[in-house]
Amino acid sequence: MALDRSTIWPYDEDGEPRQFYYSRYGHPAGAEAEARLGELDGGTALLYPSGSAATTALALSLLEPGDTIALAAGAYFGTGVTFGVLEKWGIAYVEFDQTGPPPDGVQLVWLEAPSNPFLTMPDLEAAAAHPAPVVVDSTVATPVHLRPLERGADFVLHSATKYLAGHDDALLGVVVARDPAAADALRAFRTRTGIVAAADPAWLLLRGLKTLELRVHRQTHSAALVAERLAAHPAVLTVRYPGFSGLISFDVADAETARRVETSTRLIVNATSLGGVTSVMESRHRWEGDRVPTGLLRLSIGLEDPDALWADLAQALE
Ligand code: PLP
Repeated sequence: MALDRSTIWPYDEDGEPRQFYYSRYGHPAGAEAEARLGELDGGTALLYPSGSAATTALALSLLEPGDTIALAAGAYFGTGVTFGVLEKWGIAYVEFDQTGPPPDGVQLVWLEAPSNPFLTMPDLEAAAAHPAPVVVDSTVATPVHLRPLERGADFVLHSATKYLAGHDDALLGVVVARDPAAADALRAFRTRTGIVAAADPAWLLLRGLKTLELRVHRQTHSAALVAERLAAHPAVLTVRYPGFSGLISFDVADAETARRVETSTRLIVNATSLGGVTSVMESRHRWEGDRVPTGLLRLSIGLEDPDALWADLAQALE
């Protein structure tokens, strides 16, 4: 589809609004992306300007002052930071081990499949048995590997900045709701608060989605190979790989070694984020502090030749 950047569209001959009339309410690229994303996760999708915006909008629209979120320990550190920001509006959060049941007395359960960067998988069955609504941040799994709405989740969230858009050139988030009425409530909240995605990144997302399945399968295949070789390398203490997706984390001896390794690669770019066509690696201690081991490196596998990636890593680990 052609990219339409309009913010307004003319009313019809009778002076009535057509499908699109003002872009805060909706625009063609966003609506098309939402249709595709809804199919992929099996629900009703809503686009947001970033994964963090999707997190904020979902939490604010579902919760009230006095409510508490049970957040998977070891999930994307920024999600906890965002919830911390919401504390002054009376929304609290507690962390729990997502491989077991969520705690009682919370109004929202927030899982991550698999968690970034610890790569644990949630117990979806135990969470679905909890009375509170369940959100699964499925950014790392993608709908290619997991459809949480079919496993009892109420909402799926993605940082579409990562695998869904896939080329490190679009910042976006998405929430997919199982219940169409819940999606309507989120849409009304989004329109009123103005937390809306622009047309340009939505169009890039549409283009990225055309190759999602191909990319994720290739990234998974290469990551499995690299994870296996990392596990056999004497300089590597621990490898975390869930058996699917393109994301690996592994530990070297200490912060100094991690810094040397991350700055010694030639093909793998020393940069943050994950899920793009280019492989990136970084030490996470710089961002996350003592919640991660000092020697933890997070490696997002792209579309390069896996043997060339391994050769690059091997020389950096020497
Ligand atoms: N969820 C996960 C699992 C992430 O890795 C990230 C970003 O790194 C986010 C959410 C936040 O997404 P964004 O950077 O698009 O705001």
